Amino acid sequence: MAEKMKAQVFYESEKMRMEDLPVPRISDIEVLVKVKNCGVCGSDISYYYGLSPVGTANGKGPIVLGHEFTGEVVEVGAVAKSMKLFAPGDRVVVNPVQHCNACYACASGHTNLCSNLFVPGVSANGGFAEYCASRYTGLFKLPDSVSYAAGAFIEPFACAVYGIKKLAIEPGQFVAVFGPGAIGLMMIQMAKSIGAGKVAFIGTRDYRLEEGKKWGADYLFNTKDSKSPYYVKDLKKAIADVTHGLLAERAIVPTSSNEAFEQALDVTGNAAILVHFGLPNTGDVIKVPALSTHTMDKEIRFSWLAPMVWPTAIAAIAEGLVKVESLVTSTVPLAKAEPAIRALKERENNPVKVQVTP
Ligand SMILES: [Zn+2]
Ligand SMILES: [Zn+2]
Repeated sequence: MAEKMKAQVFYESEKMRMEDLPVPRISDIEVLVKVKNCGVCGSDISYYYGLSPVGTANGKGPIVLGHEFTGEVVEVGAVAKSMKLFAPGDRVVVNPVQHCNACYACASGHTNLCSNLFVPGVSANGGFAEYCASRYTGLFKLPDSVSYAAGAFIEPFACAVYGIKKLAIEPGQFVAVFGPGAIGLMMIQMAKSIGAGKVAFIGTRDYRLEEGKKWGADYLFNTKDSKSPYYVKDLKKAIADVTHGLLAERAIVPTSSNEAFEQALDVTGNAAILVHFGLPNTGDVIKVPALSTHTMDKEIRFSWLAPMVWPTAIAAIAEGLVKVESLVTSTVPLAKAEPAIRALKERENNPVKVQVTP
């Protein structure tokens, strides 16, 4: 096997270089994966621009980013080998939030809160490289019907599935989804496929909102652009109008905008469940109107990562409940990862999802 591999190494804000690195040597609990497709996540953009520190000891590189990836097994460490879990040639998808399976949090099923997490692409070298080492606890076989490109959506989709699970939608309920990114689009399809009634999709950019229509949104509301055909000045009134005054029964907010969450509080009705999903920035504070939230008996939940939902996420994609592949707006080679991140930040050509193929 090759000794060296190409990798995009991130050093600090806006400094990333293509380099030759040694192919990772795996430990007994790891598996070596030849990376096929790696999605660029919003958090990769945040790390690249220094808006959020990466998960290393000093919050800096050098580190290989990229945590949404699929690949082919090339070498299996002793532990996974002894259990015959994987073999070279297996098509796999990597859950980058890799738990230890031994701590208190893991033992109680909260693997997202594991005290010994290993996270390729965030706290260890990730998928913007030809090879990546993964713990066997974070590896799943990819069903034959799922392409490497579609498989690279399983990580963000699993997070969406966890959020939707927390939303506890009952058949026919009116659901409001705030934030028309790739996650919001996947949430619409998932909500519909598990029995939501009408879904309202709320954002500030029309091209994203219109994408939502293809994914099953019933109502589009633009809360910012007064020139938009979907513009509404008073969102609460608009939602009251389409719900016979009942307001939304469920609301989920896959954006870090505090304003969006406050709007969600405003447009939900009695006994509503709200899920805060988008990762806040340091120091963010949300205002909750205490009296109305209390006397309307609402419930606010938070959704962090994707514990115990990977089998559901994989099955939903394999069975075609969500069709993620159409979200890929461009695929670039490893050498173009950096310009791709910049273009995403600038929103050149209205991108939804960009994938890197090492
Ligand atoms: Zn991500
Ligand atoms: Zn653990």
